[in-house]
Amino acid sequence: MTMPEKPKTTICSYCSIGCALDVHDADGVSGIRGKADYPVNEGRACDKGFNLIEPFDSDERGTIPLVKTEEGMEPLQWLDAAWLFTQRMKDIMREWGPESVAFLSTGQITTEEMALLGALAKFGMGMVHGDGNTRQCMASSTVAYKQAFGFDAPPYACTDLEESDTLIFIGANPVVAHPIMWHRVRANRKNPKVVVIDPRKTKTAQAATHHYAVKPKTDLALLYAIANLLIEKDWIDHDFIEQHTEGFRAFRAHAAEYPLKLTAAECGLKVEELEELARLIHEGRAVSFWWTMGVNQSHQGVKTSEAIINLALLTGNIGRPGTGANSITGQCNAMGSRLFANTTNLLGGHDFTDKKQRRKVAAILNIGQNRIPDRASKPYHEILEEVRAGNIKGLWIVGTNPAHTWIDQEGFDDVVDKLEFLCVQDIYPNTATARLADLYLPAAASSEKEGTFINSERRFGHLQKIKDPPGQALPDFEIFRLIGETWGCGRWIERWNTPEAVFRELRKVSAGQPCDFTGIKGYAHLDEAGGIQWPFPAGQELEHNHRRMFEDLQFFHKDGKARFVFTEPAAPPEQCSDEFPFWLITGRGSVAQWHTMSRTGKVEKLRKMSPDRLYVEINPDDARALGIAPGDSVAVRSRCGEITAVAELEEGIAPHHVFLPMHYEETNRLTFPVFDPESHQPAYKSGAVALKKL
Ligand code: SF4
Repeated sequence: MTMPEKPKTTICSYCSIGCALDVHDADGVSGIRGKADYPVNEGRACDKGFNLIEPFDSDERGTIPLVKTEEGMEPLQWLDAAWLFTQRMKDIMREWGPESVAFLSTGQITTEEMALLGALAKFGMGMVHGDGNTRQCMASSTVAYKQAFGFDAPPYACTDLEESDTLIFIGANPVVAHPIMWHRVRANRKNPKVVVIDPRKTKTAQAATHHYAVKPKTDLALLYAIANLLIEKDWIDHDFIEQHTEGFRAFRAHAAEYPLKLTAAECGLKVEELEELARLIHEGRAVSFWWTMGVNQSHQGVKTSEAIINLALLTGNIGRPGTGANSITGQCNAMGSRLFANTTNLLGGHDFTDKKQRRKVAAILNIGQNRIPDRASKPYHEILEEVRAGNIKGLWIVGTNPAHTWIDQEGFDDVVDKLEFLCVQDIYPNTATARLADLYLPAAASSEKEGTFINSERRFGHLQKIKDPPGQALPDFEIFRLIGETWGCGRWIERWNTPEAVFRELRKVSAGQPCDFTGIKGYAHLDEAGGIQWPFPAGQELEHNHRRMFEDLQFFHKDGKARFVFTEPAAPPEQCSDEFPFWLITGRGSVAQWHTMSRTGKVEKLRKMSPDRLYVEINPDDARALGIAPGDSVAVRSRCGEITAVAELEEGIAPHHVFLPMHYEETNRLTFPVFDPESHQPAYKSGAVALKKL
């Protein structure tokens, strides 16, 4: 096939690696290539990326707004849809006040769209509450970074994966979840030790040099015991601790409460394994720690993230090539959501509760200071609780599918029943959530619009528009503007008239913040450079395009020092019992599946690469004891519900544990609604279930 000379470039809208893809042929998959000179993926992509466009061409796309009537969903024109939205939401707000409506958004739309939605809803419409589904994937790391470093700043560049001689993955499975990141581990020429701490022998654990099959939810105790061992053996960096941290003495006393033998037994590991792990950290010259949802989605995800950061601080493994306490985000624009969605942070990582910061942002945006709420939004699950309690009556859901993903999925129906008005904005009108909507708004897909995503290593990547959306579908940006104008915010959003204009506003807001990107001149600059990581303040030259943070060992607390933060581990609220004797672990199933499969499920090639029915992985000994053979139908029951799955026998699953992939609608009928008390992130990764052959 002859390729046109000038492809357009988009950023993959699946995972947080943020691979750039050159699209030569907008109508088919054959014209998609990994962008050769892009520093993140260097020409590579995984199967999801190579098939990015196909689900956008599906007949199932929404092409016109739809309103619920007695006869079912009926089409209506955009202006009518915008008026209906405005009228219903305003009526509710007039009667019940500004806290009676809220929005739930996503990590899948562009940074500019997130910012416009957050600003419009809060500064324009007067909403107080709005959160993103990013709460479900990395809120724990966000809080941990703020407490430890003084700002939400994942410190690494993707090249650190190649420069490390000891890589420690905790609750992370990059072979499946972040495949292009794993490619860098394979490209590492230092013959690295690759350590995986995970209850399951995941694909990453199979490829690692060391696997520690820790008991579910004992990781926090394990990390403290390792810290204690490092301290006892004096395998710590005294100079670094002295000059660049606070809180070491108290942490040393705390870690001493985790003696080797007792903790090893608690974690289901041998004493020798803990000693080996501590020695690996000690002997590594450049040790990097990586974690993701196995840590974040926990009843104490914040403190577990902090315990990982503590190990990096103890050993001075930060700010140098191949080191770092590195949380990997999930969705393509989770990082955009963390800093620029105007939900828990005021735009640009500012603080809603700080009067000075509100004044600063108001002045930059040329809005009245009283338009900025003086508190952050309620978190996702509290918004849903407020709906259930009848206090929030109007809900706007953008680009996310909680009827499928919510940890308390059964309870989601009650939530929707309580609403007076549910508007769902999505590229498909037939997701589990969109089917419940009173009003459905058809949105453009990522390749049908312009804007930026920020990837896991803080890199702004530019999405060029490849093709038009189908029918009357509009970019989320245009939908927000239309609603803003109908609402009466037309004057206010005049300056926010194109994605790049919003990019420029955000650039101004970022000035002086740790995420300062005032040096990025615009989209053309991003195209030319191959994306640019924050921080990039005005005046800085881009000498190289892989930059890690804290090379100067200055952290963002006022004294420039990082903090040791710790707590007493708590038992998971849901425990195994005689009735529910198996630990339930959930996670990503295969590299071909993404979240609720609303996109990957529409691609034949990807469907063929993953099971078409929900399966449950069971240890062969447990299966024998229960008379279960591979392929049998099995009832899996938890305190929340019961589902049926096909049995798969897996040596990599420890006895008395089972694994369910997260992508199937049934899975979250079983998960028990528990949340980290600080980050409010759901604890999807643990539960207790019973199995029965059907
Ligand atoms: Fe897309 Fe992630 Fe695959 Fe890259 S690794 S192509 S960003 S899904």
